Amino acid sequence: MTHIYNFSAGPAVLPKEVLTQAAAEMLDWHGSGMSVMEMSHRGPEFISIYKAAERDLRELLAVPDNYKILFMQGGGLSQNALIPLNLVGHKPQPATIDFIHTGSWSGKSIKEAGKYAKVNIAAVGKTAVPPLAEWQLTPDAAYLHLCTNETIDGVEFAFDNGVPAGLAGLPEDVLLVADMSSHILSRPIDVSKFGLIFAGAQKNIGPAGVTIVIVRDDLLGKALTICPSAFDFKLVAENESMYNTPPTYGIYIAGLVFQWLKAQGGVAAMEQRAIAKAELLYAALDADDFYQTRVEQHNRSRMNVPFYLKDESKNEAFLAGAKARGLLQLKGHKSVGGMRASIYNAMPIEGVQALVDYLNEFAGR
Ligand SMILES: *Cc1c(COP(=O)(O)O)cnc(C)c1O
Repeated sequence: MTHIYNFSAGPAVLPKEVLTQAAAEMLDWHGSGMSVMEMSHRGPEFISIYKAAERDLRELLAVPDNYKILFMQGGGLSQNALIPLNLVGHKPQPATIDFIHTGSWSGKSIKEAGKYAKVNIAAVGKTAVPPLAEWQLTPDAAYLHLCTNETIDGVEFAFDNGVPAGLAGLPEDVLLVADMSSHILSRPIDVSKFGLIFAGAQKNIGPAGVTIVIVRDDLLGKALTICPSAFDFKLVAENESMYNTPPTYGIYIAGLVFQWLKAQGGVAAMEQRAIAKAELLYAALDADDFYQTRVEQHNRSRMNVPFYLKDESKNEAFLAGAKARGLLQLKGHKSVGGMRASIYNAMPIEGVQALVDYLNEFAGR
């Protein structure tokens, strides 16, 4: 059988080793006689799974002690409401939230936040992150929201010492909130420079249904009264993500992915691999004008690579040929068309090489 490489943007490829281990443990987790899916979330077995997952994620991202890690439900999009509901209460109402609009996902965040706060679009850039000098920030805003990797548009902030480039120059009191759904754990980050980081799991962590929130503890406790209790970050934190039943199986798989990441050398190793994979792929796309990309070089995503055939009448033939070679889910998001290759942590370089070979073959090189 042809080797399969899955370039889906999410839910996305998971490490083979993780899926193999999960399959082996499916019916009987570590001699407990139960599947992880069947366990009480308050029993000692699942508590040990939860604590290991929390500890490993904290270690991988070097999360400081004054930050809580929450394993929530509802996906990345629900955080677009839950973050305002939890954070705007730190300022007199109505508070303003600043946004940098770099693509579809920050656009959705902007739209949703408008239900709970005043929204200021501080800067817009669809093919590159707008330069910091152009940002029109609101004095005393509740926070500044960034989507540090735009999964659909392929715009990723460049980072400097674990912080989006240039942001070290922001006023101290600007509270940074970052949607890292599609590139978390692909590079080292300095968590201490953020107020809150969130990420849906289904891109680079595990199955859909788990949402990671990393939040500084002084930001807890000011949820608006209309915030549902199960989504009040303070209650979730106080109950170690078990105010209500957490997505137990998803947390278990995420925990296996964290162990896998540690065995691979952690996020520093992941970053080196991501750079190598992205360079390989962009070089093939740049070789001549058969393929085209739209994002400026310095903000090209290492995780999500949108590209277009110059002759779009060949799109169907391209996708059919890819599928025949075991290269799956390369069709671009419907809102932007074209193609997209997502090359998350679990995509081996062999998969990117197989795609590059096909790109060259299809272009007749
Ligand atoms: C996928 C994604 C989301 C939305 O995730 P859901 O789980 O579908 O709500 C939000 N932000 C980014 C950057 C994403 O890639």
